[in-house]
Amino acid sequence: MKKIEMKTPLVEMDGDEMTRILWQMIKDELLLPFVNLKTEYYDLGLKKREETKDQITIDSANATKKYGVAVKCATITPNKQRVEEYNLSEMWKSPNGTIRAILDGTVFRAPIIIDTIKPVVKNWKKPITIARHAYGDVYKDTEFRIEKPGKAELLYTSVDGETQRQTIYDFECAGVLQGLYNKDSSIESFAHSCFKYAIDTKQDLWFSTKDTISKKYDQTFKLKFQEIYDNCYKAKFEELGITYFYTLIDDAVARVIRSEGGFIWALKNYDGDVMSDMVSTVFGSLAMMTSVLVSPDGNYEFEAAHGTVTRHYYKYLKGEETSTNPIATIYAWSGALRKRGEMDNLPELVNFANNLEASCVKTLLDGIMTKDLVNLVDSGVKVKSVNSKEFILAIKERLNKYYN
Ligand code: NAP
Ligand code: MG
Repeated sequence: MKKIEMKTPLVEMDGDEMTRILWQMIKDELLLPFVNLKTEYYDLGLKKREETKDQITIDSANATKKYGVAVKCATITPNKQRVEEYNLSEMWKSPNGTIRAILDGTVFRAPIIIDTIKPVVKNWKKPITIARHAYGDVYKDTEFRIEKPGKAELLYTSVDGETQRQTIYDFECAGVLQGLYNKDSSIESFAHSCFKYAIDTKQDLWFSTKDTISKKYDQTFKLKFQEIYDNCYKAKFEELGITYFYTLIDDAVARVIRSEGGFIWALKNYDGDVMSDMVSTVFGSLAMMTSVLVSPDGNYEFEAAHGTVTRHYYKYLKGEETSTNPIATIYAWSGALRKRGEMDNLPELVNFANNLEASCVKTLLDGIMTKDLVNLVDSGVKVKSVNSKEFILAIKERLNKYYN
């Protein structure tokens, strides 16, 4: 066959450990035989981040601003143990944190649902999409450990020198302290992208925070959402018959569990991190979830929601067989290629992305799957548990049918 052509390069962000191995397999078997892949390559593997003093991460985010679409492999966020393991000169920050701080925006995460895998919460019939604010809060915090008694204060000095000062706590002992911030502009763009996404996908939008306790911080999120809804989106929501609904996060959790699904749940940065793991686990596995960062100026970064699957990687290094699920990483590629195709008006590329996803679903429905999914499948369905390579080849076999 003649390979599918691209116009604009994708920003390709390679990563670490097991997902880096999957990344190469996916390219070799599922992409390069079909597409004349154009990418601008950034190696965000920890070794390269160390060599470039993390400049590579910043460069990759700026490239995303230039081209508009990126695809990212999972990466290690270094901790103390990693600093020793990789002999790092510094505990480099989370690449996702760095990229999100540069791009701003909202991360949308939706489960990939297969008929033969029933969610653990049995009344969930439709996907629940998590819209996670991707800027600020605890991901950009300042933290102190306090080793002896003393007074902690919050101090703000405006550009013209006015100050606001308040005691946080008068420590009589050792303890901990944390400073968080967010910006009106980022909260507003978060709200706009959630309302737009709800309209695009014709789903209800729920939003929850802890505004009863956080009377300024969370309250700002709540008020901004309401104001933007009333001024910009209410009419369109009513026309489409969809609703915007705000409730306290604890109430939301209870309602979400009792719901049928089929809506978007907007959450602050940390809440979205935690709840998206919960939602994906209920629907099957962390590897069965799509994740895309949408920035206010219309840039897209597609990724998997899970990490580098370290435990499997250590087994892989020992030469043992691994059955790591590549679905989320494949969908990161298909999502990015589809978006590139839509932006560049390349229907063949859009089709390819659709066919690739359909081939993944077909493989799973045929009962061929990685170990993580085997125990989740309905009893009565015949299942063949395979390793990552065999799984990718089974997908390729089905993808080939569209092109021969
Ligand atoms: P993880 O890589 O998501 O893996 C946690 C466990 O979840 C695995 O041990 C495995 O369970 C299961 N799992 C996750 N993805 C899977 C897949 N594709 N197929 C099959 N099973 C899968 O999280 P972690 O072990 O906490 O973190 C490892 C590294 O990833 C850390 O260095 C962390 O910094 C990084 N991380 C990166 C990102 C990102 O780049 N987006 C996100 C989270 C974490 P079993 O072992 O039971 O099979
Ligand atoms: Mg997480």
